[in-house]
Amino acid sequence: MEQTSKISKFYQKTRSERLDLLKAHGFVSENSADLLMTTTGISEDVANHLIENQISQFSLPMGVALNFIVDGQECVIPMAIEEPSVIAACSNAARFTRSTGGFKTSFPERLQTGQMIFYQIADFANAKQLVDSRVDEIKQLAELAHPSIVVRGGGLVDVETHIIYNEKDQAEYLTVYLYVDVKEAMGANIVNTILEGVTPAIQEWLAAEKLMSILSNYNTRSLVTATCEIPFDLLATNHLDGQSVAQKIVKAAHYAKLDPYRAVTHNKGIMNGIDAVVMATGNDYRAIEAGIHAYASRNGSYQGLTTWQLDLDKQMLEGQLTLPLLLGSLGGAINALPLAKISQELMQVDTAEQMARIICAVGLAQNFAAVRALVTEGIQKGHMSLHANALAIHAGATGEEIELVASRLRALERMNLAKATELLTELRQQNS
Ligand code: NDP
Repeated sequence: MEQTSKISKFYQKTRSERLDLLKAHGFVSENSADLLMTTTGISEDVANHLIENQISQFSLPMGVALNFIVDGQECVIPMAIEEPSVIAACSNAARFTRSTGGFKTSFPERLQTGQMIFYQIADFANAKQLVDSRVDEIKQLAELAHPSIVVRGGGLVDVETHIIYNEKDQAEYLTVYLYVDVKEAMGANIVNTILEGVTPAIQEWLAAEKLMSILSNYNTRSLVTATCEIPFDLLATNHLDGQSVAQKIVKAAHYAKLDPYRAVTHNKGIMNGIDAVVMATGNDYRAIEAGIHAYASRNGSYQGLTTWQLDLDKQMLEGQLTLPLLLGSLGGAINALPLAKISQELMQVDTAEQMARIICAVGLAQNFAAVRALVTEGIQKGHMSLHANALAIHAGATGEEIELVASRLRALERMNLAKATELLTELRQQNS
């Protein structure tokens, strides 16, 4: 069977049929499909050694978004998330990009950042000059601190020294930034090891006090960009022509650059997709979240992260998203979490770099889905339709009752928990 992530009526299949389809289309091996079918969590032994005071495991459903082509490669997107409608919206958005070849990405450099912060410095200009003149020694110390990353082709690439000024505009700290090629790892531990190896020498050269040496999650030397083109034709609704919808999407993204109240929610939509894939890949979602939100504030106020524009000659809506993304394909908890490795298989990736490119594309798709819905029919229609399942479960429905109560809820003008409870009671009375 052809390897395509455009699999029709996937959502109508049973779980085992979906896994058979993913196998048939070449996205998972027999073994991985078996593991996805039977897994109920991680082994007690692993769970107990991953964190402290472990008492249980917290489960989230994992699904796949379809229809993605990223840099010419068909891929299926694993998403671990509790919120209904995110996966449906993401799959639907990706469909709009297929006729123009899907998403294209660029990723000029991928370096992890560390910082060594010093204070009680007599002459800041001299201190900065001193550190800048000893970069070769810093590189040698870094190699001694973590030789294996150098053997793998990585290690310290760049050093920058910055004077940090306080609120009164006085020089108060001298910070030395290290930019490290961490190869396939996310690299927090690699960078922290290097920092601890290098810091004592710099402290001695400067005769200064050390405040701390630590990785920075603000990965401005690991920026990924995803772009896509959507023909106006595909955007038309019953009430608006395609170009008008495209124009509204452009304005929505523009507005999110101006008003932080909107920007936060605009970016929350992007993070719906990004967090879900980051979780499914076993990566550190706190690190990714913190870095992305800082990047959204880089111009001095918190802004929406996507840019949409019209190309009238081509009759296309063009989207772009740039994010700091530094994920690992190994290291941390990734090797201990069996589903994290299967997520890489589903995405058809071999490297952390490819993974970041895909995740950026997912963020752009998710933003398109949300903004398109908001400027046309609103998000509640689609959202509430899927939320009906959650309401049915909340009301106490189990097994087949869930779909029966949810479908009756969907037929109503308004749905809420009281209605779900009432419908469940009615259903049980009918069946008793
Ligand atoms: P690890 O400490 O697991 O380091 C990855 C290790 O994998 C390397 O040291 C390397 O060991 C080995 N490795 C094997 N093959 C490769 C390869 N091809 N490329 C790179 N390394 C390879 O993980 P990280 O350093 O990535 O740290 C990530 C963890 O740190 C996450 O769990 C994160 O939550 C946590 N953390 C995060 C912080 C933050 O974000 N602020 C702070 C502190 C920790 P070797 O070369 O020796 O064989």
